[in-house]
Amino acid sequence: MGSMALWQLARAGVAAIGFERWSPGHDQSAAGGESRIFRTAYQEGTAYVPLLLRAHDLWRELEAESGIDLFTACGCLMIGPLEHPDLRRVLTSAQTYDVPHRVLDHDQLVERYPQFAFLPGDSAVLDRRAGVLRPEFAIAAAARRAEQLGASVVTGTRVRAVEPSSSGVVLRTDDRDYRVGQAILAPGPWLSRLLPDLAPYVRPKKEVLSWYQAPRPEA
Ligand SMILES: Cc1cc2nc3c(=O)[nH]c(=O)nc-3n(C[C@H](O)[C@H](O)[C@H](O)COP(=O)(O)OP(=O)(O)OC[C@H]3O[C@@H](n4cnc5c(N)ncnc54)[C@H](O)[C@@H]3O)c2cc1C
Repeated sequence: MGSMALWQLARAGVAAIGFERWSPGHDQSAAGGESRIFRTAYQEGTAYVPLLLRAHDLWRELEAESGIDLFTACGCLMIGPLEHPDLRRVLTSAQTYDVPHRVLDHDQLVERYPQFAFLPGDSAVLDRRAGVLRPEFAIAAAARRAEQLGASVVTGTRVRAVEPSSSGVVLRTDDRDYRVGQAILAPGPWLSRLLPDLAPYVRPKKEVLSWYQAPRPEA
């Protein structure tokens, strides 16, 4: 969130400074890791789809500006009974915004994807615009591009406090205070440390991923 905001501010000609406790693209944040799914036929709700279509274009723009391969549009297959509320929202999102997609019934799934064990009654929606993002590279690319466009990136620096002042905002770090006009806070799961007043409303949870070796990689 922070590195992308910085890139966009720098693009808009705003004199902006980005602060990062470690360095952009480190592996300790919510975005740490080698892959994230990007979807546009969205089960979380149709209202997100315009944002996602815009995000899709911006991922491609960041690739073009940075020269780094960030997004592989391999598609995403969402499997389940078509009448399930999640799949219904996926389909409604796709249909409402003309997202390229395909609906497959059980027989088509068995034929096309023999590597999966489908349940009777399963169908699927293939979101053709979905794919895999490389989050650590993307963050590093956005921060670097922001610097090329005139922004400053202050790394290895934890913002200890954010306080309103008569002329804007004061950001306190261990080394010095920064007086700025406005601040965007994007500290992810560390939000409640930076803004303790919000602590009762925010409960970060660890999300664990697992990878399994494919028994038949050729499938
Ligand atoms: C295991 C896992 C899998 C996920 N899978 C997906 C997926 O497939 N698709 C998807 O879209 N989303 C996925 N998500 C969610 C997505 O990764 C997060 O929503 C996203 O990374 C949040 O971005 P953020 O910038 O808010 O927070 P973060 O990525 O955590 O970034 C916060 C940054 O702020 C810095 N920071 C914090 N406090 C300070 C401070 N005081 N001073 C200076 N710097 C500070 C941190 O160092 C960090 O770099 C997944 C998340 C996890 C954990």
